[in-house]
Formats: sequence, C-alpha cells, structure tokens
Amino acid sequence: YLQELKAVKELPPETRDGQRRVELAANIGTPKDCKGALENGAEGVGLFRTEFLYMDRTSLPSEEEQFQAYREAAEKMAPYPVIIRTLDIGGDKKLPALEMPDEMNPFLGWRAIRLCLDRTDIFKIQLRAILRASYFGKVRIMYPMISSVKEVRQANQILDSVKTELKEEGIPFDDQVEVGIMIEIPSAAVIADMLAKEVDFFSIGTNDLIQYSIAVDRMNERISHLYDPLHPAVLRLIKNVIDESHKAGIWTGVCGEMAGDEKAVPILLGLGLDEFSMSASSIPRVKKVIRSLSYKEAKEIAGQAMEMDDSESIIAMIQQRLSPN
Ligand code: PEP
Ligand code: MG
Repeated sequence: YLQELKAVKELPPETRDGQRRVELAANIGTPKDCKGALENGAEGVGLFRTEFLYMDRTSLPSEEEQFQAYREAAEKMAPYPVIIRTLDIGGDKKLPALEMPDEMNPFLGWRAIRLCLDRTDIFKIQLRAILRASYFGKVRIMYPMISSVKEVRQANQILDSVKTELKEEGIPFDDQVEVGIMIEIPSAAVIADMLAKEVDFFSIGTNDLIQYSIAVDRMNERISHLYDPLHPAVLRLIKNVIDESHKAGIWTGVCGEMAGDEKAVPILLGLGLDEFSMSASSIPRVKKVIRSLSYKEAKEIAGQAMEMDDSESIIAMIQQRLSPN
C-alpha cells in the first residue's frame, strides 16, 4: 500500500486528458502536521487552523510564540503556500484566556472575525506574527466567518496598519502577501461577486456553509440526516462562488470536508474548483478520482448534478459514471 501511495504522490493532480490541473492541499492544526501533508503529496496547506495555539491554556499566546509556529509551517512547506487562517474561536470553541459571554446561539454569535474586529489587540498580535512568518516562505492570510464586504475592509485596514508598524520597526515581511476569505456563511456566497473585488482568493468552508444554509447543526446527531453536502442549495451556492471568483480573475478552493469526499469531488472538479484542501490522508484517494476523469466528463457530471433536485439521484449518477459496469 505504501508503494502505491508513493506512486500516486509523484503523479500530478490533473484530469485523465491533462486538460485540467488543480491544487491538492492539506488542512493542518499544528506545524507538526506538515510532514504528513508532504508525505501524502500535498502541494501546500490550504487551511492552517491556528486555534490550537490559543486553546487549552489560561493565557493568550505571545507574538513570538505564534511567529515560531507560523514560521515553522512556512519553512517546512516552502516553496508551497501555507494559508494561515486567523483566529476562529467562539461557537463551540471557548477561549479560557478570554472571558466569553454566554450566548443563546453561540454559532450565530460573537466568534471568529467578529471577535477579532472587536478585540483588535488580539487580532493585531496574530497578524504581526503571520506577517513576520511570511518572510520565511509563501504565506497567505485568510479571514474566517466573513458575512459582508464591510468586515473584509475593516480587517484589511487593520492588516495595513500592522504592515505600517512593521515597516517603521524595520521588520521584514512579504508586502505582497495574498489575502483571502472563507466563504462559509450563505450571505457571503450570495455576494461573492462583491467580495471578489476585495480579496485575492476564496476558500469555501463547506462544513459551516452546509450548517448555515440548511439550518442544521453540524454536531447534532439527531438531525444528521439533514446535513447534506449535495443539497441543491449548497451546490448552487458553491457554483456561484466559483463562477464569480473566476469572472473577477481570482481563484476558489474548498477547505471543508467536502473537498475530501469522493462523491463530491467530480462535481467540484467539473464546476471549475481550483484548489482542494483536506486532511492529508485523503489526498491520494482524491487524486485518484481526479485522474480517473477527463475534464469533459467532470463538467458533464457537474452539469447533470446541477439539474437534479435530490442528493440520492446525484450519488447514484456519480457512482454509475465512476464505475459504469
Ligand atoms: C468549514 O467550516 O468548512 C471549515 C473548514 O472550518 P472549520 O471546520 O474549522 O469550522
Ligand atoms: Mg468553519
């Protein structure tokens, strides 16, 4: 099996006919995960969840501590890119070092970029650490839980002020660092055309996008049958995001579980998705699916899926097309 894994690792993530090449990246939680990412053939980190630095402790991580972690990931992955997501705390993830209010609906509450835009002291320290790390590899910055254009502009203003500070202090960083946002709230998916003018890339967080668009708690077992990645509404949102990003000349990835879901991959590929980011161990399987299809076939599959009104028919169609006998 290891031999087979190695063989797949060396092959490019492209369609059978060579008409379409995509980027397969890994989701990581700590710099230690870079090793497994590279072993599985990842050509980058599409999502570095930075929460680990902040959780299970009673004080906030210092700029230096964060810088070391981000730098380690950037250096290990170089020359491949590492997308560092700014703090996505709140919802189910509490921060012991920070007094978090009890909320009626924590998943609709004070979390992620909302918290960061209120607590700019915390946000700036993280942005300084990320920018400093950008000098040591190819780093990209990504804001989570964006719901409006205003939030992106506010976050970018803070980023600009941090850049100015670093310049004044003579600290080196990559001034061209790309900035993207997660599309995981339906409002953001609907105004993708407007958001595309503000950023360098999109990454669709399907875990939350599905939860919010179908109003189904992603953790609640009792309603897990409603949690449907192939719900036509979810597919329409994803298609809109990819189409609008391409019209604006930027790219779109998926960093939710859907990117590693073999049933969903042919559709995402056919819709023109540019980057798939998943747990490292899924990369070889996904690469095999991509390499088994021509781009034309993938586009046909996506086209058919977009016409279907339930996911059971979509799954049956995909299974039929992947193994016609
Ligand atoms: C997502 O929502 O799809 C995502 C990748 O972010 P997280 O799972 O960390 O909420
Ligand atoms: Mg999310």
